[in-house]
Amino acid sequence: MKLDSSPIAAIATAAGRGGIGVVRASGKDLAPLIAALFPGVVLRPRHATFIDFTAADGSVIDQGLALLFKGPHSYTGEDVLELQGHGGPVVLQMLLARVLQAGEPAGLRLAEPGEFTRRAYLNDKLDLAQAEAVADLIDASTEAAARSATQSLSGAFSKTIHVLVEQTINLRMLVEATLDFPEEEIDFLEQSDARGQLAVIVASLDKVFQQAAQGALLREGLNVVLVGQPNVGKSSLLNALAGADIAIVTPIAGTTRDKVRETIQIEGIPLHIIDTAGIRAADEDIDQVERIGIERTWGEVVKADVIVHLLDASYGPTAADETIVAAFPRGVPVLRIWNKIDLSGHQSAVEVAPDAVSVYLSANEHSGIDLLREQLLRIAGWQQTGESLYLARERHLIALRAAREHLDVAAAHAARSDQSLDLFAEELRLAQAQLSSITGAFSSDDLLGVIFGRFCIGK
Ligand code: GDP
Repeated sequence: MKLDSSPIAAIATAAGRGGIGVVRASGKDLAPLIAALFPGVVLRPRHATFIDFTAADGSVIDQGLALLFKGPHSYTGEDVLELQGHGGPVVLQMLLARVLQAGEPAGLRLAEPGEFTRRAYLNDKLDLAQAEAVADLIDASTEAAARSATQSLSGAFSKTIHVLVEQTINLRMLVEATLDFPEEEIDFLEQSDARGQLAVIVASLDKVFQQAAQGALLREGLNVVLVGQPNVGKSSLLNALAGADIAIVTPIAGTTRDKVRETIQIEGIPLHIIDTAGIRAADEDIDQVERIGIERTWGEVVKADVIVHLLDASYGPTAADETIVAAFPRGVPVLRIWNKIDLSGHQSAVEVAPDAVSVYLSANEHSGIDLLREQLLRIAGWQQTGESLYLARERHLIALRAAREHLDVAAAHAARSDQSLDLFAEELRLAQAQLSSITGAFSSDDLLGVIFGRFCIGK
């Protein structure tokens, strides 16, 4: 990703047709672009101006609203111009081409993925955790995930992290001040209650970690592989599980929806279900493309968080079921579902055995479905705490974990009789650096490239 500050432009709305579509430009000074696009017109900042969008030869491309946000009072912190026209792919491409052409003398170019948000970050409009929340909100597949992303975007997560950083800095300052007066070291830990302060920081960090880890579930969800013989009731079970809770599945740029993958949700946690009914045996007469698709699907099966093996309770396991079980990847928990208990006469129940947990249920009669939901949530590690959750990313969890480890080492130093205060202070510094990396106070360019590179163009 280029780091230059030349003006940029892109279509900001999703590809496809829509009522309106927006072309957005950002740059330190967009006056030359505006003069070229709308000669003689003065755009009042933050006022919608209904205007003709014209080509260089004066012909009208579209009519719409021009909106100017003067920096620093804009999304990126620079001048931002939004042209809101009709949301057709061709007309928007024509409008974008016109903007690129009009801005060419000023060095205007097409924006890279995530570049608007990256500029917002570099201009201190958002911190890194908030910038990530923009992408998470756009990609959220359930209502709970969207709500948590909004929480993070509003700065709630960042604020909590800042409080932790502040507490760590305060303790560090106290310790470092003492280092200059070695004769006072001995009593320092007692007098200042440094151990007590450290314990408070550790307790708050643990709470944040819990909220973040639960929030990460809302983001990532659980990968579930559904296997079983034809007619055991896989589709019926999927419908019963989903109920009214079918996740809002949105097409995400760069991916096409997999035929064998379906997303439902339980308590807001997305369950990505891979239905192996879509996988035909490799020895059947299949073409190259399908073979690759099958290999890819099996690749996902290996990464599954849980295998749900469906059997017919009125039959018991068949030889084919034994083959299925033999193909299960090692180490992935298995939930064995005995369906159709209305026919077999079993009661709905959960049975725990060393190799698998079994659930007896009836997809058609909806008995035992709650038990299955509970088991899936248990495997996901879901605990309903009533606390607000942060839609954390793996990066955040890793940093929180690392910070916790440094605090543990600091506590160990504090507990030692020689009271190695310099080492204590150093561990606090390392913990602080880990916490700060979450909001991006000391982030490397590589990290920024990874984070913003995953955005779509126009964000
Ligand atoms: P799939 O091929 O595994 O997806 O199975 P389906 O969901 O299509 O179900 C196959 C048949 O079994 C259908 O006729 C369902 O109505 C029936 N079925 C599914 N679940 C139950 C159940 O719990 N009880 C009974 N009696 N029939 C069921």
